[in-house]
This record gives sequence, structure tokens and C-alpha cells, in this order.
Amino acid sequence: MKGYSGWRVGATMFVLLALGATARAAAPCCGGMGGRNAETAPSPAQAALRPSAPEAKPQTHCPVMNAPINRNLYVDHNGKRIYVCCQGCLSRVRAEPEKYIRLLEEMGVEPEKTPPQN
Ligand SMILES: [Zn+2]
Repeated sequence: MKGYSGWRVGATMFVLLALGATARAAAPCCGGMGGRNAETAPSPAQAALRPSAPEAKPQTHCPVMNAPINRNLYVDHNGKRIYVCCQGCLSRVRAEPEKYIRLLEEMGVEPEKTPPQN
């Protein structure tokens, strides 16, 4: 008799403890975080969106004839190196370097820098 009733009390206690533990574990999970997440979660995608500056490209084409450049033919002006495609363009860029630098920059081209002289 003693053993039997003892088992019942123990079993009841165990069930109550188990229910209590389950309730405690579940409450902060479902109640606490669900609402907070929906309200205050910032949108990382929107924060990362920034107007990007136009990207400067290295020069690949002659500003005079728009033909592929010859890397042996160039004019250095104000620390900028303007490549051209042929001798004819070379003399035209020499005559008006500012004009062709501006032309390149308008095309989104960043003229190469003249290497420092020794
Ligand atoms: Zn040319």
C-alpha cells in the first residue's frame, strides 16, 4: 500500500514538473521572439542600397578614331597618359591633349597616370 501510493505521488509530481518545464521552455521562444522580430528587424537590403558612382574604365580605345589602342603610342599630358592607335592620332592628341582627355573622361574612361620620372 505504501509503495503504491508513493508511486502515484511520484508520478504526479513528475508529470507536473514535465509540464512546467515544457511551458517555461516554450514561452520565451514563441511569445517573446516572434513579435519582436517582425517589428524591429531592419531591412539590410535597403541599408546596403547606395547610388553607385559611375565606374571609371581603363583606356582601351583611341579617343580620335575609337580604334583599339597601340600601347607603344601615347601622349603624356599633365600626368595623364593618352594612348592612341596610330601615328596620325598621336599628332592630333599632341596638338590638343586637353580635348582628348576630356573626351575620354566623358566616355567614363580614366586615363592612365604617367609613371613618375626618374
Ligand atoms: Zn589612329
